Amino acid sequence: MAKIVAADCYLYELPLPEKMGDAKHGVHEHFELPIIRLTNEDGLEAVGYSYTGGVGGRAVLAHLKYDLTPVLIGKEANDIQDLFEAMYWKTHYIGRGGAAGFAISAVDIALWDLKGKEQGHSLLKMAGGKNQTTRAYAGGIDLNFTREKLIDNVEGYLEKGFQAVKIKVGRPDLVDDVARVKAIRNLIGPDRILMVDANYGFSRDQAKAAADAFAPYDIFWFEEPIDPEDIDGYAWLAERTSIPLAQGENLHSPREFRDVIRNAKVTYIQPDASNCGGISGWLEVAKMAKTAGLTVCSHGMQELHVSLMSSQPHAGWMEVHSFPIDAYTNRQIELHEGLAVAPDLPGIGVDFIWDKLAPFEIKL
Ligand SMILES: [Mg+2]
Repeated sequence: MAKIVAADCYLYELPLPEKMGDAKHGVHEHFELPIIRLTNEDGLEAVGYSYTGGVGGRAVLAHLKYDLTPVLIGKEANDIQDLFEAMYWKTHYIGRGGAAGFAISAVDIALWDLKGKEQGHSLLKMAGGKNQTTRAYAGGIDLNFTREKLIDNVEGYLEKGFQAVKIKVGRPDLVDDVARVKAIRNLIGPDRILMVDANYGFSRDQAKAAADAFAPYDIFWFEEPIDPEDIDGYAWLAERTSIPLAQGENLHSPREFRDVIRNAKVTYIQPDASNCGGISGWLEVAKMAKTAGLTVCSHGMQELHVSLMSSQPHAGWMEVHSFPIDAYTNRQIELHEGLAVAPDLPGIGVDFIWDKLAPFEIKL
């Protein structure tokens, strides 16, 4: 057991290789990467991080620097649950999700990294170690692409070995969405998996109409068809479509997940460790999903989730997200027959290339 003696906090604004759009957030040109690096009294260093779609990173950095660092300095790093609760209650009045939740998630990930490095254990092993690999799919942010560019993009995924792909839906005209779904189903053939993601761009009735129109194309799941907080709406839609429903990236606390798992009639639950309480939060959600008989999946940060997903017996499909955090780490996701392999390294298995990040640092 060693005490935390330093916490260095950073924020990077990283450009995307091209403009990427979805139904609710418009076009993304960059994403944000807040990172916290902890050092213990033995000189061991560990990192944790979150990410945003381009908004709120400065607030996350401020929480890390001014609110959470004082909670951490001088404390035993292995007391992850105690530290988590201390951070949660310190920020409770203005927190319970939002930027504070992203910051707590980053710290939690750093604490797991430190624990793994101290003990010489990989995240895969610490999280349960069921398998070494997990099924992975390519998650496009492609609603702004022309149909030709969408097809080119998915062809690129197939060349990389993906056996499952997800495209965005929610164009102004449903006929256009259906044509895109049909084009991609024709491209990938009948045996590969196709998911769609509306980023809650539809009303209940629009989502029902869209589900009816997509159904002939063998859609594996319909992700965030409507407002993620409209739990009754999910249940309503689930009773009216044969396409399984998925959501979770916008749920940021165990309570939100509990309510969705109990009442929304979704089939796939998609926690993101960057915003649902880090590794501790993700594993809690995975446990809730298992108890309820749901399949756990993941959203974003594939370089980390590959270990968490591989560790779980009820894991479904890991998203390989279009925000390329792993372009700035020493290890990229590799696919073997559609499966992604978890790293066998002490800690979370994510090492940032600081020199590559440096030009994109944002200071408060
Ligand atoms: Mg999504």
